[in-house]
Amino acid sequence: MAQKINKRTHRINPELLSKNAVKVTHVLQDAGYDAYIVGGAVRDLLLGIAPKDFDVATNATPDQVQKLFRRSRLIGRRFQIVHVTFYGKERPEIIEVSTFRAHAQADQADVAASGRILRDNVWGDQAEDATRRDFSINAMYYDPQTEVVLDYHDGMKDLNAKIIRMIGEPTQRYREDPVRMLRAIRFAAKTGFVIEKETLAPIEQLGDLIQDVPSSRLFDEILKLLMSGHAWASIEGLEKVGLHHKILPLIEVILSDEDRTAFVKKSLENTDERIKSGKPVSAGFLFATLLWHDVQEAWINFENTSMPAVPALHAAIDQVFERQKEFLGMQRRHEADMREIWTMQPRLEKRVGRYPYRLVESPKFKAAYDFLLLRCQTNEIDAEIGQWWTDFWQGDDFLRADLMLQVK
Ligand code: ATP
Ligand code: MG
Repeated sequence: MAQKINKRTHRINPELLSKNAVKVTHVLQDAGYDAYIVGGAVRDLLLGIAPKDFDVATNATPDQVQKLFRRSRLIGRRFQIVHVTFYGKERPEIIEVSTFRAHAQADQADVAASGRILRDNVWGDQAEDATRRDFSINAMYYDPQTEVVLDYHDGMKDLNAKIIRMIGEPTQRYREDPVRMLRAIRFAAKTGFVIEKETLAPIEQLGDLIQDVPSSRLFDEILKLLMSGHAWASIEGLEKVGLHHKILPLIEVILSDEDRTAFVKKSLENTDERIKSGKPVSAGFLFATLLWHDVQEAWINFENTSMPAVPALHAAIDQVFERQKEFLGMQRRHEADMREIWTMQPRLEKRVGRYPYRLVESPKFKAAYDFLLLRCQTNEIDAEIGQWWTDFWQGDDFLRADLMLQVK
């Protein structure tokens, strides 16, 4: 049975709620269904943090949900959910609505030989829905109308004790979905909570299962980790449990080399800062920093076969993408951004002729310039080059002409 926690106890600040999420629960409830805000949003509300996105759980089926909202779309991947979109003054908000599901049993769902669940669209009641969720702190339901939190797995107790605890038998739950290992590390880094002993213990043994996860899903999860605002703490967390070997050979290489660690640490700390202050961060930029040393290494190798610098750089980039593909299903547009950032680096360093004037006007200048500054901050290149670009970017025609004269 669920514990009912009233507002005097949970003290959720209604101002942190998304009006759109509340609206979705209203519409569903008016149509006679149950509907609650659920999961990470409830966890964050209880922690007094503004959730970055809101999920709603309901006993209405995806078809029934879709009929109630004009701007809604059925998204069907591993499980079917409905996205309801709201357009406001700011960027559009998507509320994810999922139907209560049962914890998929091996005989009802598609299961891989390793135990990994491939598809689970087995509807269930709310209690079953709570049980199939990952951690106790992620399995609470909030009804904005009654302002009651429903807690099926002592999530409130764990939240107060600052503990991340898997629901059910941890080993089995990781086998069903190895991504839960990454999630445990990410939430620990984000909340500063400790991972409870039995939840933590199997991770060291089961790390290999990560290799079975489809590369595009792994990319999504790693991106969430890198964009959590606690990227560096998450990487350290992965290292502590040995998961860095499994996820990305990339992360392993980074952590085994001092120069690379310094560069990536600095860039992830910058990223964390940007995210905490609400600034946008692009996936392309992030992965461009993670893979930069690989690119440089390959670049030198191609140049040593007496290939000219520019084609050698492109060949190096192709090679790095090719190697990475096996692990991470990166989207083309991210790859295009990364290539642009990298190939602009030698041009930014050169500063000759009309190039600088053209470069500052390029839509990709800002990202490449930020990347250059990072290289200055980690002493990879002379800090003077970064300062030169800062001045050139902000300067008027006179200053720019003067700066051009300074370049030898
Ligand atoms: P974030 O703050 O990063 O959005 P979140 O907890 O909301 O964290 P989501 O990926 O948005 O994470 O998932 C929403 C909810 O769905 C989770 O809180 C959890 O209840 C459930 N969930 C998500 N992924 C899994 C999973 N792999 N296994 C079990 N339950 C999951
Ligand atoms: Mg969420």
